[in-house]
Amino acid sequence: IKLYESLEAETGQAVGFHQPGSVRIASTAARVDEMRYQMTRTHWHVTPQYFIKPEKVQELFPDSPAPVTALTPTPDGKWDVQTPHGTIRATRIVNTAGFWAREVGKMMGLEHPTIPVHHQYVVTATVPEVKALKKELAVIRDLEGSYYLRQERDGLLFGPYEKMEKMVLQDSWVRDGVPPGFGKELFESDLDRIMEHIEMAMEMVPVLKKADIINVVSGPITYTPDLLPMVGPHQGVHNYWTAIGFGYGVIHAGGIGKFLSDWMRNGEPPYDLIECDPNRYGRWTNVPFMCAKARESYGFNNVVGYPKEERFAGRPTCRTSGVYELLKDKGSMGFHAG
Ligand SMILES: Cc1cc2nc3c(=O)[nH]c(=O)nc-3n(C[C@H](O)[C@H](O)[C@H](O)COP(=O)(O)OP(=O)(O)OC[C@H]3O[C@@H](n4cnc5c(N)ncnc54)[C@H](O)[C@@H]3O)c2cc1C
Repeated sequence: IKLYESLEAETGQAVGFHQPGSVRIASTAARVDEMRYQMTRTHWHVTPQYFIKPEKVQELFPDSPAPVTALTPTPDGKWDVQTPHGTIRATRIVNTAGFWAREVGKMMGLEHPTIPVHHQYVVTATVPEVKALKKELAVIRDLEGSYYLRQERDGLLFGPYEKMEKMVLQDSWVRDGVPPGFGKELFESDLDRIMEHIEMAMEMVPVLKKADIINVVSGPITYTPDLLPMVGPHQGVHNYWTAIGFGYGVIHAGGIGKFLSDWMRNGEPPYDLIECDPNRYGRWTNVPFMCAKARESYGFNNVVGYPKEERFAGRPTCRTSGVYELLKDKGSMGFHAG
């Protein structure tokens, strides 16, 4: 570096040397660990290194994505979308903020019933029997063991859905909001919680018994009470749309993007997706209801689905009909559904 610094002065030849500083982005917990480790070894070096927060990255590299910080309706039915880079006038807005959806909803006084659930999966090291395969394995879904299992490079990837009593809701994010700056970080994993599923998988696929686990991932999946997303225009707020609450957002993303853009362009939805209507929820879907239902929906992920079954968690809600008590007194069992 010293050579390049002095080269122009010494030779009169411009070499285009400049020192704007360098920001290394750590977007996973492993990367942060790696950086901390490296930084313990670099004190001999004159160039200072330090950790900075996302806000500082924004300042040093303002072209990086800017969060929406406020949403203000305009008198002509549009929206002023405020960001650190300035305000954008939008004809309509779509909340696609994943597990931040509640935060964005709150900007206009809405409480969307979405809650992050801890979902774990386990990745194994190379399994010789898998490596020897000529063709990629099909994905297995063992419904009784409540897990999926697929090939991951030359190893296996195993993802269970725990029972409702065991699964973990990130309810502090509902209460206190998503911690600022939380990005692609992960939660602490907990193998004990999924041990019964691992044992069932070992019975089904014996090579798992001798496979080494190299990674356990635990991340937030956003759940709505009934596990279906909330897609479409939101009642009561002009030109506000949602595409939130995706438990399986990777697989659904393309279809939902097309569905919404067709709807916006043509003025009506291309086909019926009424079960994903955001307006099936309302003020009655309060936090206790949402938590109870999300717990049930996650835990029931792989249970047998019977026609006309009643799902009891979170019932009765706060909007029972006038005859509810009478029917209950007379021993009525149901009218809950879903
Ligand atoms: C461990 C794990 C395994 C999974 N496995 C699968 C799988 O196998 N198949 C599958 O289909 N799905 C899977 N999922 C679920 C899938 O990852 C999610 O459903 C999907 O990522 C949700 O997409 P999204 O676009 O709704 O939200 P996100 O991907 O969370 O995107 C939300 C975006 O909104 C942005 N944002 C938030 N707030 C603001 C703001 N104020 N201003 C501007 N931007 C903002 C964020 O930066 C982010 O880019 C898994 C999830 C986990 C955690």
